[in-house]
Amino acid sequence: MTGIPDTVAYFNGEWVPRSTIKIDPLDRGFYVADAIYDIGRTFNGKSFKMREHIERLYRSLKFVRIDPRLSEEEKFDISEECIRRNEHLRKDVGDWHIWQAVTRGVAGFRVYGVPPTVLIQCVPVPFASYAPYYQNGAHIVVPRTRSYSSQSLDPKIKHYSRMNFNLAELEAHDIDPESWPVLTDENGNLTEGTGYNFFIVTDGVLRTPGDNTLLQGITRMAVIELAERLNIPFSEEDLQPYDLYTADEAFLCNTPICVLPVTKADKRVIGDGKPGPVTQQLLAAWSDWVGLDVVDQMERYAADQTTIMS
Ligand code: PLP
Repeated sequence: MTGIPDTVAYFNGEWVPRSTIKIDPLDRGFYVADAIYDIGRTFNGKSFKMREHIERLYRSLKFVRIDPRLSEEEKFDISEECIRRNEHLRKDVGDWHIWQAVTRGVAGFRVYGVPPTVLIQCVPVPFASYAPYYQNGAHIVVPRTRSYSSQSLDPKIKHYSRMNFNLAELEAHDIDPESWPVLTDENGNLTEGTGYNFFIVTDGVLRTPGDNTLLQGITRMAVIELAERLNIPFSEEDLQPYDLYTADEAFLCNTPICVLPVTKADKRVIGDGKPGPVTQQLLAAWSDWVGLDVVDQMERYAADQTTIMS
């Protein structure tokens, strides 16, 4: 694949080639990040947890008081239609991200009540960005840049105001170019990454922070669901860098990566430095659940992905 295929997208009530979409520079989503978004995905062309993604999108929209002027049911149907309309392009890319964005619309400062900008698009899952990390594990860096305080901006909202995440990524990159930041909150507790949640395993117990300082990841909930099915003990609790450094295993999770092993944090080796057994068990269970080997798919399609998506 030499670029992103020109999929057909839903933009403000019409189906159009993605390449023809024009975002007005006076759209509040563009100039003050007054926008809500969500990213789901397909496995073998079938949507996964689409209802949960749409429900989370609508919770965020409700909180920030943007009216998408579409019901949840309509949004669901249009999203599924987007997958169907692009199915003929899927063989080259493997699977899609289903990317939703809703902005408050084209309006000046303190002007409200205009039509929202609504986009639903399929873009290839960027396998090349993740594939290199499954065999030997990803590295975490805990940057000095803090996560949002839930008192200023509730992290449960999935919005585009992500400058602290961008800064955290730069900071982590300075320390270890291959690393993924996991941010602390103002009390020094670990929260989440810049687009992923995380878990550790200590003495066989799966542990993750509670959801008052992080995005309610759909994958996070799916991991908890899997842990229950597999009888893996699970705990939501405050975690500090101490817990991460002394854990037996760690992994990141989000929609594209599913479960991604972590083998170093702040340059310290986690466990025995290899993807751990609970992590591997969850990854295998995930593959069974979605009907394809997620690591194999990552590695096969990564080789073809170049330039902009990698
Ligand atoms: N945390 C943040 C800040 C995110 O932006 C995301 C996803 O983009 C996640 C966690 C993981 O969420 P999900 O599992 O729904 O992809």
